Amino acid sequence: MGMVNCLYCGESIADDMQRCPKCGAPSHYQKRGFRLGARARLMLLFMIVSVASLIIAIWLPR
Ligand SMILES: [Zn+2]
Repeated sequence: MGMVNCLYCGESIADDMQRCPKCGAPSHYQKRGFRLGARARLMLLFMIVSVASLIIAIWLPR
Protein backbone atom coordinates (compact mmCIF):
# COMPACT_ATOMS: atom_id res chain seq x y z
CA MET A 1 0.00 0.00 0.00
CA GLY A 2 1.33 3.42 -0.93
CA MET A 3 0.32 7.03 -0.64
CA VAL A 4 -0.75 9.28 -3.49
CA ASN A 5 -1.75 12.93 -3.69
CA CYS A 6 -5.35 13.82 -4.49
CA LEU A 7 -5.53 15.35 -7.97
CA TYR A 8 -8.09 17.91 -6.79
CA CYS A 9 -6.99 19.17 -3.38
CA GLY A 10 -3.47 17.70 -3.07
CA GLU A 11 -4.24 15.82 0.14
CA SER A 12 -2.04 12.73 0.74
CA ILE A 13 -4.31 9.65 0.66
CA ALA A 14 -3.81 5.87 0.58
CA ASP A 15 -3.84 4.58 -3.02
CA ASP A 16 -6.44 1.92 -2.22
CA MET A 17 -8.96 4.52 -1.05
CA GLN A 18 -12.05 4.86 -3.24
CA ARG A 19 -12.44 8.56 -2.45
CA CYS A 20 -10.42 11.40 -1.01
CA PRO A 21 -11.49 11.83 2.66
CA LYS A 22 -10.91 15.59 2.48
CA CYS A 23 -12.74 16.70 -0.68
CA GLY A 24 -14.62 13.49 -1.64
CA ALA A 25 -13.12 13.28 -5.15
CA PRO A 26 -12.86 9.72 -6.55
CA SER A 27 -9.32 8.31 -6.62
CA HIS A 28 -8.14 8.06 -10.23
CA TYR A 29 -5.40 5.61 -9.31
CA GLN A 30 -8.04 3.15 -8.09
CA LYS A 31 -10.18 3.64 -11.23
CA ARG A 32 -7.34 3.01 -13.70
CA GLY A 33 -5.95 -0.01 -11.84
CA PHE A 34 -2.68 1.90 -11.52
CA ARG A 35 -0.86 -0.66 -9.34
CA LEU A 36 -2.23 -3.70 -11.22
CA GLY A 37 -0.92 -2.28 -14.52
CA ALA A 38 2.57 -1.78 -13.11
CA ARG A 39 2.58 -5.32 -11.66
CA ALA A 40 1.40 -6.83 -14.98
CA ARG A 41 4.19 -5.02 -16.87
CA LEU A 42 6.76 -6.30 -14.36
CA MET A 43 5.46 -9.89 -14.76
CA LEU A 44 5.62 -9.56 -18.57
CA LEU A 45 9.20 -8.27 -18.39
CA PHE A 46 10.14 -11.16 -16.05
CA MET A 47 8.60 -13.71 -18.46
CA ILE A 48 10.42 -12.21 -21.47
CA VAL A 49 13.76 -12.37 -19.62
CA SER A 50 13.07 -15.97 -18.53
CA VAL A 51 12.19 -17.14 -22.05
CA ALA A 52 15.14 -15.27 -23.56
CA SER A 53 17.61 -16.85 -21.11
CA LEU A 54 16.07 -20.30 -21.75
CA ILE A 55 16.49 -19.88 -25.53
CA ILE A 56 20.09 -18.73 -25.07
CA ALA A 57 20.80 -21.70 -22.74
CA ILE A 58 19.40 -24.19 -25.31
CA TRP A 59 21.02 -22.63 -28.38
CA LEU A 60 24.38 -21.93 -26.80
CA PRO A 61 27.10 -24.16 -28.36
CA ARG A 62 28.68 -26.57 -25.88
ZN1 LIG B 1 -9.02 15.62 -2.36
